[in-house]
Amino acid sequence: MRVAMIGTGYVGLVSGACFADFGHVVTCIDKDPSKIERLERGEIPIFEPGLDDLVARNVREGRLFFTLDGAEAIKAADAVFIAVGTPTRRGDGHADLSYVYAAAEEIAGLIEDFTVVVTKSTVPVGTGDEVETIIKRVRPDAQFAVVSNPEFLREGAAIEDFKRPDRVVVGTEDERAQAVMRELYRPLSLNETPIVFTGRRTSELIKYAANAFLAMKITFINEMADLCEKVGADVQQVAKGIGLDKRIGSKFLNAGPGYGGSCFPKDTIALVRTANDYGAPTRLIETTVAVNDARKKAMADKVAAAMGLEDLAGKTVGVLGVTFKPNTDDMRDAPSLDILPALLAMGAAVQAFDPEGRHEAEKLLPGVTFKNGPYEVADGADVLLLLTEWDQFRALDLDRIKGLLKAPVVVDLRNVYKPAEMVRAGFTYASIGRG
Ligand code: NAD
Repeated sequence: MRVAMIGTGYVGLVSGACFADFGHVVTCIDKDPSKIERLERGEIPIFEPGLDDLVARNVREGRLFFTLDGAEAIKAADAVFIAVGTPTRRGDGHADLSYVYAAAEEIAGLIEDFTVVVTKSTVPVGTGDEVETIIKRVRPDAQFAVVSNPEFLREGAAIEDFKRPDRVVVGTEDERAQAVMRELYRPLSLNETPIVFTGRRTSELIKYAANAFLAMKITFINEMADLCEKVGADVQQVAKGIGLDKRIGSKFLNAGPGYGGSCFPKDTIALVRTANDYGAPTRLIETTVAVNDARKKAMADKVAAAMGLEDLAGKTVGVLGVTFKPNTDDMRDAPSLDILPALLAMGAAVQAFDPEGRHEAEKLLPGVTFKNGPYEVADGADVLLLLTEWDQFRALDLDRIKGLLKAPVVVDLRNVYKPAEMVRAGFTYASIGRG
C-alpha cells in the first residue's frame, strides 16, 4: 500500500516508520522545514528509543520518504493519514482542530483515485464528519472515505506499542475503506491483534474514553496515596492488592505527582467540553481534572514539609528529571512545569538535570539552572527531588549523594527507593503514600 502521513511528530513519525517496516511505501510530510531537513540528514528530531534504527533501515530499503511538499505522495496514496497536533484551544479548553482542517483542505485539492483519509490525531466526536464535509465542498467529485483510526501508543515505548498493540480501532462503515485498513494492519494478524471495526463517531469517542479512564485510574490511586499517608498504610501494597483483581488490573496504579504529558491533560479537558456541549456532563472526569491540577501544585508544599519548613527562601532544590515520564524528551504539560515554578515562587533556587528533556525544558522553565548529571544536581542542594524515574536515577550512589547535599533530604515522587533503606542510609526521606 502507498501511505501519505501528514504530520511527522511523535505519532506521525513512529506510525510512518512502522507502516514502512510492515512493507508499505510511506511518505511522511511535515510543514516544519527544520524537521524535514533533519530527517533527510538521517537525524531523528525527537527522542524515542529504537526509532533511529527503524527509520534508517526503512529509508535505506526505499520504503520511507520525507518531504515538505506532500502533493505527489498524497495523489498517489491509497491512504492519507492526518497525524497533526490537536492541542487545547486557547480560552475554552476545546481541542484546536485548525491543523486537522487545514490538512483536510490540502488533501481535498489533491485526491485522484479512491482514497482513504484517516484521522489518526485525537479528535472530538464529529470531526470526521467535518473533514468529510470539507473535502466534499472543495472537491464534490472526489472518491474517498473518511476513517477514524485513533492511536494508543505511549511515548517511550512507541514502536513496541504500534507493532504489538492491545487492539486497533477503525471507525468506518465503508467497505472499501475497511479493506484498505485491514490490508494496512495485516502484519498485526500474526500476533492476533484484535481490530475493532466500529462507527466513526464511536471510534472517535473510544480514544477519549480510554485516556479519560486512565487519567481517572491514576488520580484514584493518587488519592488513595494521600489517604495512606494519613492512616499509616502503603499505597504500593494497596495497588498490588487491588490490581491482582482482574476486573481492576495492575497497570496505571503507580501513585505519583499527578499525570501530565501531551495527551491526558488536553484530552480530559476536551472530553469535558464535548460532554457539556451535548448536555451529558462527565462529572468524574471534571473532578479528575481538578484533583490532578491541585495535586501538582501541592507537590512543592510536600518538598517544604519534608524539610520541616513552610517556605523555601534561601534553599536550593536539586531536581532529577523534568520530562513527564522517562524515555521521552516531550515536555508538553509535564508536571515539572507546575512544580518547579511553585518551588521558585516559594523562594527556592532550583537546579535540575534531565537526560533528554533539557533542550525543551530550558525554554519552558525560566529561572531554573540546568546541570549535566545527577551528582551535579545534588551538589550544594538542600534537598533532592526525584521527579521523573529515568533508569539512571534508580541506582544512585547514595553515599556520594549524601556527601554532596547540604542536608540529607530526599523527596521521591516516584517511589523509586525503599523508605527503610533510605532511612538506614541516613536520609530524611519522603515519598508518595507510604505511611
Ligand atoms: P506533534 O506536535 O509531535 O506532531 C504534529 C506535527 O504535525 C508537527 O511536526 C507539525 O509541524 C505537523 N503539522 C501540523 N500541521 C501540518 C500540516 N498541515 N501539514 C504537515 N504537517 C503538519 O504531535 P503528536 O504528539 O505526534 O500528536 C499528534 C496527534 O496524535 C495529536 O492529536 C495527539 O493527541 C495524538 N496522539 C499523541 C500521542 C503521543 O503520545 N504523542 C499518542 C496518541 C495520540
